[in-house]
Amino acid sequence: MRTQRQVVDYSLQKRAVLRELLAGRIGTYDVCDASPYLKNAARFHGEPTDRRCPICRSENLIHVHYIYGDELKQSAGQARTRAELPVLAMTLREFQVFVVEVCPGCDWNHLVEQFLLGRDGLAGEAEDADESVAANGSTPRRRREAQR
Ligand SMILES: [Zn+2]
Repeated sequence: MRTQRQVVDYSLQKRAVLRELLAGRIGTYDVCDASPYLKNAARFHGEPTDRRCPICRSENLIHVHYIYGDELKQSAGQARTRAELPVLAMTLREFQVFVVEVCPGCDWNHLVEQFLLGRDGLAGEAEDADESVAANGSTPRRRREAQR
């Protein structure tokens, strides 16, 4: 996506969890704990992938995109389909996206990545930078974790 920026990749953390699991230091019940909300989000807003679940290996993983940001008002924390994100990115200045992978079979779930989207990402291309300076006047409230 064009305005995507500040990407944080969580594949190292995921591999660490899988290693712990293989070593028997944690059990599948620790990691296969997708909430009913997350499973619903996967069913209705999820993006199917062609990657097999690393735990049960019988289902393909589904990616759920959660959106956060003050501009979203009451929509903050909701799941959106991937197709909706570019539209939002052209409407809003900045919002955070958390991508969570979920297995519909065994309830494995893990954070995949997070990134920012929004029109502010276009500032370097077209608009002059004055606007982004004004945006720094307010302190955004931070939500550090995606809702499980
Ligand atoms: Zn699974």
